[in-house]
Amino acid sequence: MTRCAKGNHDFPVEDEHGARCDIHGVTLVWHGPPITEDNLPGDDGPSRIARPTLGPAPSQRPH
Ligand SMILES: [Zn+2]
Repeated sequence: MTRCAKGNHDFPVEDEHGARCDIHGVTLVWHGPPITEDNLPGDDGPSRIARPTLGPAPSQRPH
């Protein structure tokens, strides 16, 4: 978690895009490339980041 810039607490909302504290009205946006699985320490958890896919699946396209 990330500490709120205006309060002595962690951001209640934090995701891959940034962190937000509605209490103090602070929004933090991560700079640089988004964090991917390659940036996460692996080999110690089965959790994977599920990304929603938009549009039809390419495998359904007739050849
Ligand atoms: Zn805060």
